[in-house]
Amino acid sequence: MAELPIVAIVGRPNVGKSTLMNRILGQRVAIVEEKPGVTRDRKEVEAEWQGRPFLLVDTGGWMVGGSDLDRKVSNQSEQAIKDADVVLLVVDAKVGVTDEDAQVAQLLRALDVPVHVLANKVDDTSHEALIWELMSLGLGEPLPISALHGRGTGDLLDVIIAELPEVPDDDVEQSDMDEGEGVISVALVGRPNVGKSTLFNRLIGEDRAVVHDMPGTTRDAVDTVVDTEIGPLRFVDTAGMRRKSRIDEGTEYFSMVRALKAVDESDVALLVIDATEGVTHQDQRLAERVDGAGCPIVVLLNKWELLDEDRRKDVLYQLGQRLHFLGDSAVLRISALTGRGVHRLLPALEDSIDAYHTRIPTRQVNDVIRRAQQAQPGPHGARVLYATQGAADPPTFTLFANKTLPASYLRYLERQLREAFGLEATPIKMRVRRRGG
Ligand code: GDP
Ligand code: GDP
Repeated sequence: MAELPIVAIVGRPNVGKSTLMNRILGQRVAIVEEKPGVTRDRKEVEAEWQGRPFLLVDTGGWMVGGSDLDRKVSNQSEQAIKDADVVLLVVDAKVGVTDEDAQVAQLLRALDVPVHVLANKVDDTSHEALIWELMSLGLGEPLPISALHGRGTGDLLDVIIAELPEVPDDDVEQSDMDEGEGVISVALVGRPNVGKSTLFNRLIGEDRAVVHDMPGTTRDAVDTVVDTEIGPLRFVDTAGMRRKSRIDEGTEYFSMVRALKAVDESDVALLVIDATEGVTHQDQRLAERVDGAGCPIVVLLNKWELLDEDRRKDVLYQLGQRLHFLGDSAVLRISALTGRGVHRLLPALEDSIDAYHTRIPTRQVNDVIRRAQQAQPGPHGARVLYATQGAADPPTFTLFANKTLPASYLRYLERQLREAFGLEATPIKMRVRRRGG
């Protein structure tokens, strides 16, 4: 199996390394929160830009103090930096150059690989003047970015992949196959007591499936693989659902952390909501995080049989209000207890996974955009000159435009793409580039 090119992220604590990492992944799954011991951000993840996969390694935490740096560099982090094909030194532009930054820069100047200084927290143009001070690091012109808001990160990724060594296609396919072998991973998420276990057991029972457990990717997680009519499905982190005496899920906070980890390893999420309680704020927050992770969602309104007509209307109304950002995600009304509606689940899963993996030829993308612009031209002469689907999983479209496109117009174009290519059930990403800029 080919090794992926390595991009190492370096920098002292709090400059925004995790935020950047999550931004590059297009997801906010690793929780950036000051709760020691509760979450551990992933330090090594596979990312992809314009179809080019690479390994993103956060070497953070290796600088303990400002002095005697060499001694404190852990072997592991040092190795990651030595193995890297590109190194990103993240600096907090609002703070400026600290002694620690300067020492690290000195270390990095001795390397043979491209090193970029990222001036982070440049949230708007008024902060751009801050970056020139960072020239003193002796690593060339800093790239201004805002990891938090995504400013400049697309351009940064363009720079990175231009510097990565080519991975032969054969090897890339090989590594994909090693990983998944076509098994689709599903996360079953929702607040405690909404009916996840009941549903899970029904899914297993109903299919009379061959069921086997396998160790999950994270510690004490147990995954269950079930053969279904749409092929094998891997249900991620089902430990709590299989056991008779269930492990205490603890606070909603912990179950959320756990759920997000499962989502992270999944191709699609089933978000279970207890319809008798309506769509709660906690459901909303969970949905936002799952959606933010770029994971397609099928919403299940469970315990539906307990609701009368009025209440059903209320819940559907709430759904539109509180989960509007899920767009056209499939919503199924089910009863895990009686089995009602559960048969619609697998087809819905299949649709949403298909949409998620869609790849559309560039010519067709451009046809749709051209027609959309003929029907409704952009305001003030704004025009998309060329468009392409840069990536799948989820479908990501890059639009090259002559000027900034207003958000409302971008939403219009997004809608046209969704309708034309049947992408209603998946998150999609839209990126806009100013041509030449
Ligand atoms: P790390 O310790 O280097 O991984 O830093 P984190 O990613 O945990 O970020 C530290 C803090 O800086 C968090 O509160 C982030 O929200 C904040 N932060 C990160 N990037 C930006 C940015 O681009 N702009 C602003 N204003 N804050 C940021
Ligand atoms: P989990 O914590 O999300 O795994 O929830 P459970 O599957 O343990 O379900 C919590 C409670 O809701 C149990 O008492 C279930 O019997 C009940 N329950 C689950 N699904 C349904 C349903 O569709 N209808 C009704 N009436 N009760 C349900």
